[in-house]
Amino acid sequence: MTQRLYYAEPYRRSFDGTVLAVDTVAGHTYVTLDQTAFYPASGGQPFDTGTLGGAAVTEVVDREDGTIAHVVSGALKAGEVVAGEIDWARRFDHMQQHTGQHVLSAAFDRLFGVRTESFHMGQLSSTIDLVREVSESEIAKAEDDANRVVWEDRPVTIRFSTAEEAAAMGMRKESARTGTLRLIDVQDYDLSACGGTHVDRTGAIGLIAIVGWEKFKGGSRVEFLCGGRALQRFRVWRGALSAVQKHLSVPPIEMAASIERMQDDAKAVQRTVRGFQEKLATHEAQALLAQGSPVVAAIEGWDAQGIKAIAAAITAADQDAVVVLFTTATPAQVVVARGASSKIDAGSVVKQLAAKFGGKGGGKPDLAQGGGLSAPVNELIAYARTLL
Ligand SMILES: [Zn+2]
Repeated sequence: MTQRLYYAEPYRRSFDGTVLAVDTVAGHTYVTLDQTAFYPASGGQPFDTGTLGGAAVTEVVDREDGTIAHVVSGALKAGEVVAGEIDWARRFDHMQQHTGQHVLSAAFDRLFGVRTESFHMGQLSSTIDLVREVSESEIAKAEDDANRVVWEDRPVTIRFSTAEEAAAMGMRKESARTGTLRLIDVQDYDLSACGGTHVDRTGAIGLIAIVGWEKFKGGSRVEFLCGGRALQRFRVWRGALSAVQKHLSVPPIEMAASIERMQDDAKAVQRTVRGFQEKLATHEAQALLAQGSPVVAAIEGWDAQGIKAIAAAITAADQDAVVVLFTTATPAQVVVARGASSKIDAGSVVKQLAAKFGGKGGGKPDLAQGGGLSAPVNELIAYARTLL
């Protein structure tokens, strides 16, 4: 058994420990001490990092036999006394998130009787899974109540008791553990059995901000940020919003409506352009037909839909016409069409172009389209002529 200093002293950042064993597990050096302030990954909270005897601690593992293994990158010897130092910024962040989770879960439980099934602390945000779906208004009420408790700066104490005593005190969730339980008591708000590290007053959580939620396994998965993470996210969003604001020149509250208007405007412009294109296609078709059939050309400034309109205008005007039109974009798109009296198979022409120049496409004998043709337009035109 390793004595877990963080159980009683979660604010302890440094300690001395005696090395009991040094093992190699899957190529890693596992160091076991008589006591440690390093928190191992468990209960949804990630492990601490830091240094041990000057060597970097890259992972901390909670082992079945009750010992804690420190994965280190340096050489330590059994019997020596080493100084441990934990990365406090990382640990304190975990303490903020973890305590915030207790308060937030308690808020859903107290206000709506909705239990938390599981908790996960990720690198950027944390989630709790609630047993039923919650509404937007319930989310807001739970968030408000949780932050009220943060701002009341209530003491968070650690108590040890038997399972029976704990049950009599009214825990939020029964513990499956037997023997002595470690209880985290958020004064007059939440009592939970937990082996993790927590701040000693709710004020140190700073803020509990719910950033999103979704349906999950018949319930809700709620994503939240506490303290420093909430501030970090606020900065990221502030940067993103001010960048958008430079383009839109409207306050954040009006951005969604402003973007919707721009999208509507863009669609209207597109419809107008299509109308002009169709009219212009008739003129382009006449100019191309004047050069004789088959018409094989690349049309600058027209998209796939535009060259299709030109091809349709050509085959409508001349029953014997055969037409192959490319866009000038890279890779190029192609439309092949034929008049009612012509015998060329347009689909086959497109397939042969795609086979030679890459891309894909196909269609019917009278009209076919393709795209992704990677070659200069003069090569496309020259090859297309050999297929007609
Ligand atoms: Zn906890």
